[in-house]
Amino acid sequence: MDFKLDKVHQLQQQLFRTFAETEIKPLAKDMDETEKYDLNLLKKLQKYGFLGIPYAKEYGGCGSDTLAYTLCMEEVSKIDASTGITISVHTSLACSCLNNFGTEEQKQKFLRPLVDGSKIGCFGLTEPGAGSDVQGAQTVAVEDGDDYVITGSKIFTTNSGFADTIILFALTDRTVPAAKGLTAFIVDRNMPGVEVGDNIQRMGIRAASNCIVSYDNVRVPKSRILGQLNKGFKIAMGALDCGRIGIAAQSVGIAQGALNEAIKYAKERKQFGKKIVAFQNTQFNIADLQTKIDAARLMTWRAAIAEDNHERFSPLAAMAKLFASDVANQVTRYAVQMMGGYGYCREYPVERMMRDAKITEIYEGTSEVMKIVIAGSMKLK
Ligand SMILES: Cc1cc2nc3c(=O)[nH]c(=O)nc-3n(C[C@H](O)[C@H](O)[C@H](O)COP(=O)(O)OP(=O)(O)OC[C@H]3O[C@@H](n4cnc5c(N)ncnc54)[C@H](O)[C@@H]3O)c2cc1C
Repeated sequence: MDFKLDKVHQLQQQLFRTFAETEIKPLAKDMDETEKYDLNLLKKLQKYGFLGIPYAKEYGGCGSDTLAYTLCMEEVSKIDASTGITISVHTSLACSCLNNFGTEEQKQKFLRPLVDGSKIGCFGLTEPGAGSDVQGAQTVAVEDGDDYVITGSKIFTTNSGFADTIILFALTDRTVPAAKGLTAFIVDRNMPGVEVGDNIQRMGIRAASNCIVSYDNVRVPKSRILGQLNKGFKIAMGALDCGRIGIAAQSVGIAQGALNEAIKYAKERKQFGKKIVAFQNTQFNIADLQTKIDAARLMTWRAAIAEDNHERFSPLAAMAKLFASDVANQVTRYAVQMMGGYGYCREYPVERMMRDAKITEIYEGTSEVMKIVIAGSMKLK
């Protein structure tokens, strides 16, 4: 693995950084306070190709790769983790399912408008009784002529407040364990019977849209089954593997963003006649944390490059997410500490970043689930 980015990736990184600084930074605090994503910003993400980075040009994407996508996730999450998750759920959960399992016709019809940015995607797997363990899933799809009729409820569906297309998982065979009876469907948010609830109030990533979505006898044509009947579990798990690389990159971004803010502050703040950055304790902590961030970034790139090379990347993605999310929490906690009372105030972004960091240990598989994936890949039994 080459630890230095090539020229193309360096240019992409610079472009993402400039966009985040100029377009996202002025809005981030306000979006967090109002708990609303700025839809004009969403339009800009669509317009500038942020929503189809790793997908082929023939489907309207940028024709780039997963590594470039992680650079985007890091740079935007450095400034605003809510923008990070908005891009991530659309790109690595919704689009990856269509890209990896869609028929050519489905790709043209449903993937193209997502990756060219004219539509937004979301991913409905988690239910009130089925989080880490899909076994508790209750949403059912019953065959009726040329359609399936779907009834149930999904919780925590990110982007659902403004998404157009939902990759929805429902049970099509209730006589077997859920993992063997789940099917993926391509559902339009405006189909009769789909109802999106209010934004769920949260600790962090408060600007992201995240709602309960109810399905009341939603009639979905069989042509909208994604992949094979009863094979949805594999599709969901494959998407989450991709997603974890994005969340690892988001964690790296949150961590680097918080450390940068704290260093900037420490270079100005004086106590005991010295700038606080001059205390050896401050420098040692900064050195420790920057080392951890770099390690997390390299693990994230390693997983991304493995995916780009079509190698097995599931345990690499889990390791990257496990490690990077822990680093994001350590760094943001310390960034607040380094800035003292000011770090605790909403005037400075590290307060938001510390709240935002927590979710990286929970969504797209908790840290405990990451350990199950990693240990499972090690043939320990
Ligand atoms: C802001 C936000 C956005 C989200 N976005 C989406 C989305 O877009 N689409 C979607 O489908 N879902 C989404 N989720 C759901 C998310 O992926 C789940 O919250 C997560 O998988 C954990 O499930 P749970 O909350 O039900 O916790 P639980 O599964 O109930 O877990 C509770 C605790 O038990 C632990 N635990 C569970 N099983 C084990 C085990 N076998 N061994 C050890 N410990 C275990 C967990 O690690 C955790 O600490 C989102 C969640 C949030 C909060």
